[in-house]
Amino acid sequence: MDKNTIKAAELLKKAKFATAFTGAGISVESGIPPFRGNDGLWSKYDPVVLDINYFHTNTKDAWRVIKKLFYDFFGKANPNPAHTTLAEMEKMGILKALITQNIDNLHQKAGSKEVYEYHGTAQTMVCTKCGAKYHSPDVDLSILPPLCKKCNGVLKPDFIFFGEGIPPEAAQKSSHAAERSDVFLVIGTTGEVMPASMLPQIAKQNSAKIIEINVENSNYTNHITDIFLQGKAGEILPELLNAINQV
Ligand code: NAD
Repeated sequence: MDKNTIKAAELLKKAKFATAFTGAGISVESGIPPFRGNDGLWSKYDPVVLDINYFHTNTKDAWRVIKKLFYDFFGKANPNPAHTTLAEMEKMGILKALITQNIDNLHQKAGSKEVYEYHGTAQTMVCTKCGAKYHSPDVDLSILPPLCKKCNGVLKPDFIFFGEGIPPEAAQKSSHAAERSDVFLVIGTTGEVMPASMLPQIAKQNSAKIIEINVENSNYTNHITDIFLQGKAGEILPELLNAINQV
């Protein structure tokens, strides 16, 4: 076991309030590509489909791509060992909170309970006219756009589009967790998406130790990261848990 893994395990074991913060990278081993990078979704699709103004003016076209990306595709994905290890760490009392930028529901599927979905979720849809909510698997996507059964308004996925604000409750709980964390575990995120990218900085300003897991350097690595564990989250996290059980 390498020195950094042992150091990270020791920090997590004695932490009073450890928080995990995850990005698209944690779901790559579940078969969901990230947005950025060579194989990222934005190399194949135009991000404009997730712009809120575009959605309102080109609803059908936006929905065609959204359906393909987030419903035909995401729906079939299952948690990988990175998700299940974080759920196990919560059960052991090591992790107190999990903030995710992801909308794929895989942390909850893996058994994590205290999950703050900073960008919302694909699991529900909301009517843009009357605000009614729907469980996504119950919505028929064979005719697009899907419409509200109550008022005929257009349904929109319950995750945030470019140009929309962070869901207030998730924003508040996430900031609070970042402020009170003594260890902040950053996994699979470039740190390019604002304001989510500020959360590790907030934790650092409040004296948290930053442990980072990523296959490559992120915006954090050479600036605020204290311990960098380089590699795939689905391999590194089980190793880290193993180390926690040994230190
Ligand atoms: P990103 O696409 O900008 O970056 C992904 C990061 O993950 C990169 O730093 C990359 O090096 C790293 N990575 C790739 N494979 C990895 C692995 N196996 N283990 C560890 N790290 C790995 O993602 P982002 O910074 O999270 O921001 C993009 C936004 O897109 C987020 O807000 C997120 O909501 C959204 N998004 C979500 C999903 C999802 O729900 N699964 C998928 C794509 C994008």
